[in-house]
Amino acid sequence: MQISQVLRHKGHEVATIDGSESVRTALAVLAEHRIGALVVSSDGERVEGILSERDVARGLHEHGAALLTEPVSSVMTSPVHTCTPHVSVTELAQTMTDHRFRHVPVVEDAKLIGIVSIGDVVKARLDELEDERKHMVDYIQTA
Ligand code: AMP
Repeated sequence: MQISQVLRHKGHEVATIDGSESVRTALAVLAEHRIGALVVSSDGERVEGILSERDVARGLHEHGAALLTEPVSSVMTSPVHTCTPHVSVTELAQTMTDHRFRHVPVVEDAKLIGIVSIGDVVKARLDELEDERKHMVDYIQTA
């Protein structure tokens, strides 16, 4: 299964934030959308960084509450590992495991078109395995 199919199911919406916004604002956006990461982008298309709740937790440990008024650009991770919609779910699961991150923005023609989380990847793999199991059962019962 390709990532394009995952996006067809979950949609193309991506929560983004400008790098000049404060970490406090980023936390509000994360809470509002009930998500764990924001793509940092000034135009909603170009991926400039990624801010995960993990970056905020680490930053708070290192800098204390002063972090909240710092700009997102000071704690975000850049460059960002992105993928195309044509990559397979299995391949992306391997990449996420190797690099130990749980979010990968999907980019096509240099434009942000979606984001995939480890939860989306696990769900897609389970659906795939369940389909394969059903086919095997059908095959055995009709053989
Ligand atoms: P996560 O597991 O996605 O919450 O993120 C763990 C760490 O990896 C954080 O420092 C993130 O900023 C960073 N990170 C998350 N996703 C990516 C990505 N696609 N490319 C590069 N770094 C990332």
